Amino acid sequence: MKWPDIVVVGGGAAGMMAAICAARQGAAVTLIERNQKVGRKLYITGKGRCNVTNHCSPEEVRAATPRNGKFLYSALEHTPPAWVEEFFEALGVPLKVERGNRVFPVSDKSADIIDALFFELKRLKVSIINDRVTGISLEGLQDWAVCGVEMGEGKALTGFPCKAVILATGGVSYPATGSTGDGLWMAEELGHYYTGCGDILDQSSVANRKQERYGRVHAYNRLVGLIGLIDVYKHHCESLYDAAEHLHVSEDFLAESISYYRSKYGVCTTVDNYVVYFEPHIGVLELK
Ligand SMILES: Cc1cc2nc3c(=O)[nH]c(=O)nc-3n(C[C@H](O)[C@H](O)[C@H](O)COP(=O)(O)OP(=O)(O)OC[C@H]3O[C@@H](n4cnc5c(N)ncnc54)[C@H](O)[C@@H]3O)c2cc1C
Repeated sequence: MKWPDIVVVGGGAAGMMAAICAARQGAAVTLIERNQKVGRKLYITGKGRCNVTNHCSPEEVRAATPRNGKFLYSALEHTPPAWVEEFFEALGVPLKVERGNRVFPVSDKSADIIDALFFELKRLKVSIINDRVTGISLEGLQDWAVCGVEMGEGKALTGFPCKAVILATGGVSYPATGSTGDGLWMAEELGHYYTGCGDILDQSSVANRKQERYGRVHAYNRLVGLIGLIDVYKHHCESLYDAAEHLHVSEDFLAESISYYRSKYGVCTTVDNYVVYFEPHIGVLELK
């Protein structure tokens, strides 16, 4: 069997669009949806009619977005409302514009939108598996490269190799549709944390400085960590240069990480049977 280039997790609006776009670019795509059918939430949208988009310009969408419309800049430039209308009309779904520029299928049936997406997936030979993804597999702790997903609800887990994963499991509203927030903890396990966002280039506000600090500490723990320092000791790295090379980080970054751990732990701390000490200088002692 040829392993797919991309696994898309979740067959909602986002997952189906992602799978179609990737397959149109030539990728071998597998979409995994836990429900027996794709697009369960789409079915109830717009009171069963699906308000597909708004017939207006990207600028108008941004202006009508209550908070931080700029956040949508890139997405709207790539797929403006006009693109969405053309996309569905090209798939054979005639659309109409109603009050407030809201766009609906002429048939007033959200099922027509789901069918259009589903048959486009089929035409592009995207394989669809009905199962629940329970985790994302990584190649190795050093590379952190995604190499597959695990799936299987209430039965033995099966590994499914791939080169990349698109997480499109939706939010947590209407969990009965299958969107129970699985993607949130899967992303968290990969090191993505929900922390809100800020403009870290503008360090004049305390909130932005906190955000920047949070990101830095996360990077220290992820790329170095106490385990990394112990590993450096086990590999007999004798200088900061050797240690930085071993951990694939810059000397400055390693020095910053050590200084962070020194301020956090003081003179020393223990991990299993190792003592990592920071005073008078960095070192590791193995307790026999
Ligand atoms: C009542 C209602 C009306 C709405 N009306 C409109 C409207 O008219 N127009 C509009 O634009 N938006 C509307 N929305 C918002 C719209 O439904 C969402 O923005 C959209 O569905 C989000 O798409 P999504 O693909 O991100 O997530 P979802 O549609 O939630 O899809 C996520 C999919 O992932 C699957 N999944 C989750 N976890 C796993 C797992 N571990 N393994 C495998 N699969 C998994 C789920 O089963 C689900 O099918 C409405 C929402 C609601 C609740």
